[in-house]
Amino acid sequence: MNEIFNKIKQNDLTIIAGPCAVESEQMIFSIAEKIKEAGVHILRGGAFKMRTSVHDFQGLGKEGIKMLRAAADKYNLPIISEIVDVRDMELFCEWVDIIQVGMRNMYNYPLLRALGKTEKPVFIKRGMSATLEEYLKAVEYVEQGGNRQIILCERGVRGFDVATRNILDVGAIALLKKGSGYPVFADPSHAAGRTDIVPQLCYSAVAAGADGISIEVHENNEKALSDGAQAVDIETLKKIIKAMKKIKEIKEV
Ligand code: PEP
Ligand code: MN
Repeated sequence: MNEIFNKIKQNDLTIIAGPCAVESEQMIFSIAEKIKEAGVHILRGGAFKMRTSVHDFQGLGKEGIKMLRAAADKYNLPIISEIVDVRDMELFCEWVDIIQVGMRNMYNYPLLRALGKTEKPVFIKRGMSATLEEYLKAVEYVEQGGNRQIILCERGVRGFDVATRNILDVGAIALLKKGSGYPVFADPSHAAGRTDIVPQLCYSAVAAGADGISIEVHENNEKALSDGAQAVDIETLKKIIKAMKKIKEIKEV
């Protein structure tokens, strides 16, 4: 079994953190250094972004992947990044440790099938309006190719209230923990869509049984090229990690 996947299975709590998108070499090296010091296990960063508007920053592509790799190597961190196109599979298999399938691609069965044939851990995010049944059926497309190194992620489902970007479905975290057999993560950043309540969503996810958290971090929210409104700073990240560890210690939760 893949060493990173094994560690995730063994860890009480795995923290994935980093920017929504890799924006520059300087930016990703700086974040990698600081998150490492904060005790984060895996560096995240999008290089191929699925933006709602074609006019928004689309990511740095292959160059972004290489920057993420170089920054992570310097600080001895594994990386996770999102694949959006099956034609990039070779690139991802060469450069990335964990391959992320974003919410928009949960229904992209050719992509899931192709990932099933790789030996990389696959981090599949729940679609924004996917039922748990649909979600687990999507997972089977990866399993069918022979790849069982799967990590699930509840990232919020669409609701009626714009006060938050999405609704973190904590019930889904608890159910997936009971039934799937795979590590279950939560993404409080895309669920909240706003920095101020990201800590509370982290705590509730851990209380519901999450094995890990994927959280967006930025050192200058206002200048972020994507999702600045939901990123936390390094100091907040440190506080969140400390509190989550305490919650994890309450084994009865
Ligand atoms: C992301 O993790 O950067 C992302 C785009 O997430 P989602 O697919 O959940 O919107
Ligand atoms: Mn994002």
